[in-house]
Amino acid sequence: MAGLSAAQRLQAAGRRVLVLDKSRGIGGRMATRRSDTAQWDHGAQYFTARSAAFRRQVAHWLRARVVCAWTAPVYAWDGQTLGESSPQQRFVGIPAMNAPLRQMAEPLQVLPNVEVDALQAHALGWQVQAGDQCWVATQVVLAIPAPQAAKLIPTAHPAWPLAAQAQMQPCWAVMVSCAHAIQLPFAAAFINSGPLGWIAHDSSKAGRAGEHWVLHASPEWSQAQLEQSAEVVSQLLSAEFSRLLHGWGAPAAEFTHLGAHRWRYARGSCEQPVPQQATSGLMLAGDWLEGGRVEGAYLSGLAAAEALLASAAQ
Ligand SMILES: Cc1cc2nc3c(=O)[nH]c(=O)nc-3n(C[C@H](O)[C@H](O)[C@H](O)COP(=O)(O)OP(=O)(O)OC[C@H]3O[C@@H](n4cnc5c(N)ncnc54)[C@H](O)[C@@H]3O)c2cc1C
Repeated sequence: MAGLSAAQRLQAAGRRVLVLDKSRGIGGRMATRRSDTAQWDHGAQYFTARSAAFRRQVAHWLRARVVCAWTAPVYAWDGQTLGESSPQQRFVGIPAMNAPLRQMAEPLQVLPNVEVDALQAHALGWQVQAGDQCWVATQVVLAIPAPQAAKLIPTAHPAWPLAAQAQMQPCWAVMVSCAHAIQLPFAAAFINSGPLGWIAHDSSKAGRAGEHWVLHASPEWSQAQLEQSAEVVSQLLSAEFSRLLHGWGAPAAEFTHLGAHRWRYARGSCEQPVPQQATSGLMLAGDWLEGGRVEGAYLSGLAAAEALLASAAQ
């Protein structure tokens, strides 16, 4: 999100922009996992829009029908009681969470499967290296999680301490399909007790079908089980899901698919927004600079682009 937000703004200002991404598909942590018969938003679950700038972008996505409101009931469980969580206007991509990103990427030149492994100052700006491929750019927006950014930024650069000191927490995500519908009064719930942190009936979002659920472990549990195998994590978290269902009086679920994904750098954010200087032509972007959410990622990309445009105009 942050990279595409920056690229969109820079291209609109007339810059020639190239987006490099190590992944095969577009999405980053707003990715969607697919099997032959199912799909799961296994990263970001929904997003909110509080700032005027992001609300404008969301309004554009709503008109383009790549985003819609997710109005299904969301509850919270504290280990004792189950109740409605605080009301919020929640949005999701349709038919999958990465739909708005795919739309942003359409007019841009995006090269997938390119993992940047070195970034060096160059007489014309920055030299960007990915294996045996190399580009020279006058300006660079590095829009990746902080620990990964810290490995690429030269340690003498003023932005390096920012990335090196930012903390990000992991999240194990388990993707589940069930043979039968699970009867619950909610479509998703924050779980504030035990190994799980969130459960969601993914198919309750528009454009999806079937009985597919996403289970997210809490940051603490994910950290403790960080190097565990995906198979073991799937078993442990689906068993915890079954235990919760039993406690809520729901019939036992019959799982027809189980899979797990480890987000090593899932969430985390600097405590205060951090000002950066664009004079070197290298700007950092990413949710971790602005609140650790989809909206923050969008705003950080926009801010990085604006700063680069302003510095070039001076
Ligand atoms: C499990 C989970 C649940 C979440 N739930 C929510 C939620 O409900 N609501 C919400 O608002 N937010 C949620 N978030 C957070 C949200 O997903 C992120 O804030 C947002 O997607 C971050 O966007 P980003 O552009 O900063 O980073 P990313 O989405 O991580 O994008 C970084 C991109 O950089 C690429 N990349 C990394 N290193 C390199 C490299 N060396 N070379 C080339 N490319 C590279 C990656 O492939 C990726 O595409 C959740 C995140 C997770 C993991």
